[in-house]
Amino acid sequence: MHRRRFLKSSLAAGVSLSLASRNAAAALLAPSDKVLSDITARTGVGEEVTLGKAAVQELADSLRGNVILPGHSTYDLARRVLNPTIDRHPALIVQPKGAADVQNAVTFARESNLLLAVKCGGHSPSGKSTCDGGMQLDLSLLRSVRVDPQRRVAQVTGGSWLGDLDHESMAMGLVTTAGTVSHTGVGGLTLGGGFGRLARRFGLAIDNVNSVDIVTADGRLLRASASDNPDLFWAVRGGGGNFGVVTNFEFGLHPMSRTVMAGNLLYPLAEARQVLNVYAEYAASAPDEMYVDGGLVSRPGGFSAVVLHVCYSGDPADADRLLAPLRKAGTIVADEISAQDYVAVQRSGDISDPRARGVYLKSGFASKLTPTMVDVLVDGFEPHAERGAFVGFQHAGGAIGRVANEATAFAHRHVQFDSLFVVDWPVDAASEEHVRYVKEYFAAYEPYTDGFYTNDMSADDTQQDIDRNYRGNYKRLLSIKRRYDPTNLFRLNANIVPG
Ligand SMILES: Cc1cc2nc3c(=O)[nH]c(=O)nc-3n(C[C@H](O)[C@H](O)[C@H](O)COP(=O)(O)OP(=O)(O)OC[C@H]3O[C@@H](n4cnc5c(N)ncnc54)[C@H](O)[C@@H]3O)c2cc1C
Repeated sequence: MHRRRFLKSSLAAGVSLSLASRNAAAALLAPSDKVLSDITARTGVGEEVTLGKAAVQELADSLRGNVILPGHSTYDLARRVLNPTIDRHPALIVQPKGAADVQNAVTFARESNLLLAVKCGGHSPSGKSTCDGGMQLDLSLLRSVRVDPQRRVAQVTGGSWLGDLDHESMAMGLVTTAGTVSHTGVGGLTLGGGFGRLARRFGLAIDNVNSVDIVTADGRLLRASASDNPDLFWAVRGGGGNFGVVTNFEFGLHPMSRTVMAGNLLYPLAEARQVLNVYAEYAASAPDEMYVDGGLVSRPGGFSAVVLHVCYSGDPADADRLLAPLRKAGTIVADEISAQDYVAVQRSGDISDPRARGVYLKSGFASKLTPTMVDVLVDGFEPHAERGAFVGFQHAGGAIGRVANEATAFAHRHVQFDSLFVVDWPVDAASEEHVRYVKEYFAAYEPYTDGFYTNDMSADDTQQDIDRNYRGNYKRLLSIKRRYDPTNLFRLNANIVPG
C-alpha cells in the first residue's frame, strides 16, 4: 500500500507541454546540429555564467546522445520529474547514451562550474534530480538489464527503472530487492539504500550490489567493489549521488518463486488504534519472507480506511496460518490477498503520471511502534474534502538489521518502520494548508523517530539535519567526498559538503 496506491489514486490530466520561455536556441543536438547562440546558465553556488556556443557545440559533437536546449519540443518531457509541484528549467539537458557521454558531460559541467542535477527515475520528492539554470544529466537513454543466470548477477545500467530489473531477473527465476513502484529509478533508490517487498529477506538494494561503474567528478570512469576502490564502494552504498554518476550496477540475484501471496487488507478507520497496535507487534516479529506495510489512508470524496499491504514470498501453504493474526485485528472490509505474480505485484501501484496532484511528504525511521505513537498517528489523522493522505509505514527489519551500521554508508540498520506522512492536493489549488497540516502532524510524531531516509528527504531538511543523519558514518563519508568531489560538483542530493 503506502505511497504507491496513495499516489495512484491521484491520477488525472495529461502532461503539460508548454514550451520553455528561457534561452534563445531551441535544439535537440544530434551530432550534426548546430548551437545557435551562447547560453546563460548557473554555477553550483548560483552565480550567472555564460556558456559559449562553440563550447556547447563541442560538447554536443562529443556525444552519441543528445543535448536538449529550452524551446525544443522534447525539453519539457526531458526535464520533468515525478512531483508536479517541482517545475525547474535547466539551461541544458544532456542525455548520454553510454559511459563516455557521461564522462564528457561531467567534464563539461566541472570545467564550467555548472550546477549539475542527475536524473534516473525522477522520483526524488524534493526535486534533487532537476535544477534551474544548470545542467540536467538525464539518464533515460541508459536503460538496460542483462542477467547472467549462471553467475546469478544482473548488469543494470545507471538510468534503468526497477521494473526493468524485476522483469528481466524474474524471467530467469531470480530476484533482488527493489522498491515498490516499478518506475522508480534504480539509480536513486539504490544509492540511498533501497527498501522493498524483499528487503526483509534479502537485505536492502545496496546489500545486493556487487560493484558499480562510476564517473567521478574528475571525469574518470572507475570500478568500485570490495576489491576495487573499496572506500568508494562503501560510500556509494547509502551515500546517495554524492560521489559521481553510476553508469552500471552489478546486482547479486536470488532464486525465488514467481508466485507470492499478496494484496491488501482493509479495515474501518474507526478501528485504527486497535488494528495499528496489532500491526505494530506483528510487524516486529514476522518472518523475513513476510512484508506488511500498514497505515491510514483517505481520499477526497470521503473514502478512508486502515490498510495493511501484504507480500509473502515464503511457502504459500503457510500463508493463511501466518496471516491469521492480521485477519483478526479488526473488522475486515476487504481481503484482497491472493496468489499473484511477483512482477505484477511490483507494478500494482504504478502511477500514470498524476500531473494534477501536488505532493508533499515527511518521513522518519522508527525501531518500534508503541501505543503512544499509534495514538499520535490516529489523533492527528484528518480526512479532508480536497486533500488525500497516507500516513503509515514501510516494513523494514529482518535482513536489513543483520548488517552492521558501519559496513556500508547506510547507518540506520535499526529501522523496523520507515514512517511516511504524505499528502496530495489539486496542483492548481493553494498548497499551504495541506503542507502546514502534514508538517504539524509530523512534528508531533517526530520525537519518536530516529533519523530519516535520505531518499525521502524534504526540501526543508537543514544541512545540520543531513549531516547528523549520516550518524557514525559521517566523518568517513566526508573524507571520501573530499577525495572524489572536492568542489562539490555532485551537490543536489543529501549533500556531504566537502568544506
Ligand atoms: C512513488 C514513490 C515510491 C517510492 N517507493 C520506494 C520504495 O519502495 N523503497 C525505497 O527505498 N524508496 C522508495 N521511494 C523513494 C525513492 O527511493 C527515492 O525517491 C529515489 O530518489 C528514487 O530514485 P530515482 O532514480 O527515481 O530518483 P531521481 O529523482 O532520478 O534521483 C534522485 C537522486 O539520486 C541520484 N541519482 C539517481 N541516479 C543516479 C545515478 N545513476 N548515479 C548517481 N546518482 C544518481 C540523483 O543525483 C538524485 O540526487 C519512492 C518514491 C516515490 C516517489
